[in-house]
Amino acid sequence: MSDELLSRLSQRLIVHSGVSPDEVLGETKVQGVKLNGQTYDADAVLFMTGVKPDVQLAQSMGLEIGGLGGVKVGTLLETSKDGIYSVGDCIEMHDRLTGKPVLMPIGSVAARAGRQAGVAAVGGKKVYDDVSIRFQYDRIFDTDIVCVGISSVIAEDLGIDANVLYIEDPAEFTKIALVTSSDGTLIGGQVITSRMGARIGYQIHKRIEMGAKLDEAPLLEPLHKRMRDHLEETLGPIQ
Ligand SMILES: Cc1cc2nc3c(=O)[nH]c(=O)nc-3n(C[C@H](O)[C@H](O)[C@H](O)COP(=O)(O)OP(=O)(O)OC[C@H]3O[C@@H](n4cnc5c(N)ncnc54)[C@H](O)[C@@H]3O)c2cc1C
Repeated sequence: MSDELLSRLSQRLIVHSGVSPDEVLGETKVQGVKLNGQTYDADAVLFMTGVKPDVQLAQSMGLEIGGLGGVKVGTLLETSKDGIYSVGDCIEMHDRLTGKPVLMPIGSVAARAGRQAGVAAVGGKKVYDDVSIRFQYDRIFDTDIVCVGISSVIAEDLGIDANVLYIEDPAEFTKIALVTSSDGTLIGGQVITSRMGARIGYQIHKRIEMGAKLDEAPLLEPLHKRMRDHLEETLGPIQ
């Protein structure tokens, strides 16, 4: 968990990092959790953990598995066997920029992959280029956390020469990290904010989809400009 998120959580929450619970206690509702042999009282237990592709079914069918442990698929989500398509957490997606395999266990990607595979399975030739753009939105207590596209860590793993631009809007209690490729094209963004995270995430997503450069399509305009635009939209031009 990032320091930024930790600093925003209520002091009443206890965060244990890098450990797995031995047991969640309680019969009909959560009453506590056992960690490293020690028992803690709790009204709720929230796990943050990774995801591993479940490929048992695919393996039993003889489908090819990739180097990252997910089902290997082509651009149309076709597997190594004719007429069989695979989507979701169990597959290795193709990164949009490099074509390299990546794991993206997230519903937004699974849904778009489903659309692509469905179209291909009935003979459609359309290739959607937004299939592997991740859009993840979580609201943890009173904080929106949004991850769109590629993070700087994933960029490094994929060998993309990326830059990160940090912007802050203190009036909205918002911090944003924007990831751009070496030519300035927006390829990812992460947002942490008290509200409207999904809306900012959508703005980032739209720009990634368009292949926009940040200087052509800046993300957060200064507050006074937004206010002026809002007033002009609702009341007409300001003289
Ligand atoms: C706690 C949690 C919160 C999440 N929150 C979000 C979120 O906010 N936004 C988001 O985009 N994504 C979220 N995700 C991720 C999202 O749920 C997954 O990416 C998405 O459900 C993957 O779809 P899928 O079809 O691959 O797998 P699943 O939705 O897991 O569906 C697989 C289905 O196949 C069935 N199955 C498995 N093996 C067999 C078999 N041998 N025979 C028959 N059936 C079988 C399973 O029972 C299951 O019903 C979350 C995931 C978790 C666990």
